[in-house]
Order: sequence, then structure tokens, then C-alpha cells
Amino acid sequence: MNELAVRLATNKDPNIIWKEFLSIIKENVPFITYNTWFLPIKPYEIDGSTLKIHVPNNFFIEWIEGHHNTLINKTLHQVLGPEGKLVYIVLEDKESAVPELSEKIISNAPNTENSKSQNAFVAYLNPRYLFDNFIKGEGNQLARAAAIAVAENPGETSFNPLFIYGGVGLGKTHLIHAIGNKILDKHRTKRVVYVSSDVFTVEFVEAIQNNTANEFASFYKSMDVLIIDDIQFLMGKEKTQDLFYNIFNSLHQAGKQIILSSDKPPKDLKGLNERLISRFQWGLTTDIQPPDFETRVAILKNKSESYGIILPNEIFEYIAQNITTNIRELEGCLIKLLANASLSSKQIDFELVRKTVKEISTTKHIEVSIDFITKIVCEFFSVDENKVREKNRRKEVVLARQIAMYLSKQLTKSSLKTIGLHFGGRDHSTVIHACSNIDKMIEEDPMLKEKVNKIKNKIELSAT
Ligand code: ADP
Ligand code: MG
Repeated sequence: MNELAVRLATNKDPNIIWKEFLSIIKENVPFITYNTWFLPIKPYEIDGSTLKIHVPNNFFIEWIEGHHNTLINKTLHQVLGPEGKLVYIVLEDKESAVPELSEKIISNAPNTENSKSQNAFVAYLNPRYLFDNFIKGEGNQLARAAAIAVAENPGETSFNPLFIYGGVGLGKTHLIHAIGNKILDKHRTKRVVYVSSDVFTVEFVEAIQNNTANEFASFYKSMDVLIIDDIQFLMGKEKTQDLFYNIFNSLHQAGKQIILSSDKPPKDLKGLNERLISRFQWGLTTDIQPPDFETRVAILKNKSESYGIILPNEIFEYIAQNITTNIRELEGCLIKLLANASLSSKQIDFELVRKTVKEISTTKHIEVSIDFITKIVCEFFSVDENKVREKNRRKEVVLARQIAMYLSKQLTKSSLKTIGLHFGGRDHSTVIHACSNIDKMIEEDPMLKEKVNKIKNKIELSAT
């Protein structure tokens, strides 16, 4: 251990440790990066050589780990010794007086997260997605009103199930999380759970393998509110649909609330069992349409304020004029703007805005699943798909797995955690490692770079 670590090893004050940590980081990153990503973090406690910190949201973790992993590890070793570890805690409820109860440990923590046992219960809700920061506009007015009604009286309106559909990036996920957050806000004891239908499928398959399918079903049947996102991913998955049908009936009969989202209306969900489709139409089906110009500007304003950044109106208007159909892209543009400014330590001026908008609008936007990416990667390398999901360490399997993870990160909107889950329940840090490894290999090996580009083209071509 170095001198600093020895001195700090006996120190139990997380503030002091964090201060040392920050002082090293500050020397090594541009000022704006430091201000945007590190300063808002607050130390929470020190537990052995593990430092627990509070971050405002998941995006911080992804950004920091994605861009500064090496620096963070080095710094940790410097201040806490070789055993030094960082645990991120996402603040679910800023106002809460007893933070322990409202926190969700999402990194490096003992892995209770994936096992949805009833006593270690978490709702899997993103605390950032609230009604308060969901901007109302013509396109989402009805869906929003229905969502609020359901949140106020879950299971007691005729909106059961509540079925919200619409194109990519229009706020479906945000809205259904907001319902869950609002219900929990009012009734701490209600059992609310959010799950995307592809995670639901992956977990179900795992449960079958582990002989715990019954527990899996009873977990969902024990909910007061079940929120399932992107139900279209159940298409063609007969067994999962059967189980879901069973859970749906059990909950609906008991007067529990079911909330669903989809990229298309129920009648267009080909490949989904008719009896499910007819049940989806029992309650209320409502759509979300793309936002108009004023709504887009309002969303941008609201978002940048939430990051603590104030920009001139013209910048928001310029972005809103150029990015018109997808709110995720609007946000993506803002984040990219911050990132560009961070990485180059530049001021945010019109030139940077124009450049960033151009970058965003020339990126091809496709919707592909992690499974699809895995399939194409495995075909390319002639590797058995199952091997990629198992613990196989053969060189070509490892390469295919890492490239599939890397492309999943690039081409889908899935979180690192979800990506890990698709590869045999691997941890999110494994995905980070895979991405930085492939990044490095591509830089060193032009042949590999070409291969990865070829695969990417193939995926994009088959997906459009
Ligand atoms: P979808 O699930 O329909 O693909 P999301 O709910 O993931 O879309 O929304 C994409 C991003 O846009 C999210 O970060 C979300 O917070 C934001 N967003 C969508 N609609 C709104 C809105 N009306 N007000 C504020 N932010 C929004
Ligand atoms: Mg969504």
C-alpha cells in the first residue's frame, strides 16, 4: 500500500476519502467533465475498503464507468489500497429522511438484484421517470391523463389493463415508470414491479433451467401492480406467453392493476396469442404521438435544467427544429452536446450545437434486439449461440461474446445490466470490460475493425 492509502485506511470518514478521490480526479479530467459528472456525487459511507457513493441517476454510472473506468480504478487504489472498491447508490427519493430504505444499490453490490426474492423486494423503477418531469403535449395528453388516473386508483378504474402504444422514444417507458413511482409514493407497502418483456422472458427461461418456474410465477402473481414494457417482444415466444396469460388472469381477477406498453396497437401484434390480444383490449388502449415543436422545446429546457445547465433559447429551438420525431434523440443530442463539451473542454456555442445535431441526424437509427445481434455475430464467427451465453472460455467464443456485447451497447438502448442478463446473467461490469476491450482491439487491429463493421452493416441491413 502506498503512503496515502495507509493514511486513509484507518479513516472512516467518507467525506475525507471522497475529497482525496476528487482531488486526484480533478487533476486528470477536463474541468467541465469534473463539474458535470463528478462534483454532483456525494459520498455516503466507507465500509472496509469499499466506498459507497450517492449518484443522481443511472446515467451517471454508465457515463463515468464507460469513460473513466481506468482512472477511477487507479484513483481508488491510490486512496483505498489494492482492495479499494466503489459502490454506486442511486438516490430514489431525494427527500427521503431515511435514505437506506429508498436506495437501490446497483453496482458491485452483493448480487441480490437478479434474484427477485420476495423479502429483498425492489420495484425496478427508475426514480428519474416521474409525472413531474413528463412534459404534457398534444401527442401524449390522453395517455398521460389515463396514466395519472391509474396511478391515483390502481386496479379501481376501468383502465385495466392500461395499454400504451407508440413509436420509439416517445415516452412510453417514462410514463409507465411514472405510474409505478407515483403509486409507491402514496402507498409504500404496495407491491409494484416493472419489467421489460425481454427481461421477463430471459428470467423465465432461467427459472425453468433452475426448476424455479413456480416461484417465478408466484412472484408476479403476488403483485398489486404489474408493469410490463415492450410487450411486443413476447411475439413468437409461446411458452412465455402462456405463463404471462396465466399471471394476467390471476391478477386481473383479483382486481390488481396491469400496465402494458408496446410499439404497436394490440391488433397489430402478430405472433401474439389471440386470447392475449383480446385481453389487452379489456381495459383502455391509448397511443402516444410524436411531440410538436413547443413540446420539444419544453422537453429540452426541462432536461437541461435537470442537469443544472442553462442554455440560450435559440439553442433549444435549433435542436427542436432539427430533431423532430423522437424524444430520446432530442435528449441524446443534449447529452452528446454535454459530452462533446466535456471531452474537448469547449464552451457550448452554436458551432458545437450544429456539429452535434449533424452527428445525431446522420447516425442511422434502427431497433434491433440483443438476441438478434448475438445471432448475426455468432453466424459470422461460426460459433454456437448457446456457447456465448454459457461460461465457455474458448478464444473464439469469448471474442464473439464480447463483440455481441459491444454491438448491443452501440445498437440498442438496453442498459449494461440488461445486456449482461442476455449473456447468461453476467454482471454489468463484464459488459463494460467487453466494450473497452473491443474498443482497444479495434484500434490495434484494422482487420478486426473491418470485421466488426461488416457485422454492423449486416445487422443494420437485416433490421431495416
Ligand atoms: P419509449 O419507451 O416510448 O421508447 P422513453 O420513455 O424511453 O420512450 O422516452 C425516451 C426519453 O425521452 C426518456 O429519457 C424520457 O424521459 C424522455 N421523454 C419522453 N417523453 C417525455 C416527455 N413528455 N417529457 C419529458 N421527457 C420525455
Ligand atoms: Mg421504452
